[in-house]
Formats: sequence, C-alpha cells, structure tokens
Amino acid sequence: DWVNFTELFNRIIDRHEMSKSQEVTFKREFLNKTRFVFIDEDKITQVLDNIISNALKYSPEGGKVTFRIKESRDQILVSITDEGMGIPKDNLAKIFDRFYRVDKARSRQVGGTGLGLAIAKEMIYAHDGHIWAKSEEGKGTTVYFTLPVADDQEDEWE
Ligand code: ATP
Ligand code: MG
Repeated sequence: DWVNFTELFNRIIDRHEMSKSQEVTFKREFLNKTRFVFIDEDKITQVLDNIISNALKYSPEGGKVTFRIKESRDQILVSITDEGMGIPKDNLAKIFDRFYRVDKARSRQVGGTGLGLAIAKEMIYAHDGHIWAKSEEGKGTTVYFTLPVADDQEDEWE
C-alpha cells in the first residue's frame, strides 16, 4: 500500500516514547513532510519496532535516541542513533545474522533471541531496500535502512 512514511514513523516513535520505562530522550530530526512509499505497513512497523527496541535496550539512563529521515529523488534513508555501548567492529556485519547476539553474557540480561535484525534485513530486502549499521564502542550505534520511492511521483499524472 501507499503509506505516508513520515506519519507512520511519527506514530511508531510516539508509541515507544509513551511506553518506555527508562530515562531516555527522543529527538526527531526530520521535516514533517509527506513522503509516500509503497510498503507492507505491518512489516515495516515490525522492522522499526525491533530497531527502536534495540536502541532502547542498549541505551544508558539519560541517553538520547535520534530519529532521522533523509530523502533523495528515488529513495528515503531512515536512521536511528543511540548512545549505548556500541558494537565491536568485528561483530558489526554479523548482527543481521539469525540468532547472532554480541557477547552472550551482556546480552543475556537484556533478553532477546537474536532474530530481530535478521527478520528486519529480510523485510527490507523484500522491499528492495538496504540495511546496515555503524557503531563506535562506548559511543553508540546507528542503524540505517533505505526504501525506494517511485520516480517522479509528482509527475505521475502529467
Ligand atoms: P530479538 O530482537 O530477537 O528480541 P536481539 O535484540 O538480541 O533479540 P537483534 O535485534 O537481531 O537481536 O540484534 C542482534 C544483536 O545485535 C543484539 O543481541 C545485540 O548484541 C546487538 N545489537 C543490536 N542493536 C544494538 C544496539 N542498538 N546497540 C548495541 N548492540 C546492539
Ligand atoms: Mg532486537
């Protein structure tokens, strides 16, 4: 379906902001501009839910989570940045593998199966997008994904 991505993103962020139990600040850095993408809304919601709950799980008290949308002519770039413990460089590519969890000991306390990002990757690829992460240990992590938008949307009816 055609979905207003900004509206969907805002709604999902609102839900996490209301239900979060930690002292974490949310910051939205995107224009409240309408951008429609052709997506399976439930699946992209699941992707965002996992990335945001990861960001919260690994955030320290008082940390900040920043949400961004950047647009180009044919795609949107979504990113979610936290100020958590980060992920060692050698493990960064593996976090999108099934059942992979960095450092079993530290992850055990926060729970999870290690499936969230593997499912997210599958869903983003099914939408012809890409997903990846950048991280600095001790500083934080950013997860990025892209979704294609129709070329020349505005010219469609000309
Ligand atoms: P699930 O999502 O199935 O409940 P999970 O959160 O452990 O479990 P993934 O979402 O796939 O699994 O993440 C895989 C691993 O990547 C996590 O266990 C964690 O070690 C690491 N990770 C993911 N996001 C972050 C983050 N924002 N900061 C630090 N580590 C992260
Ligand atoms: Mg997860």
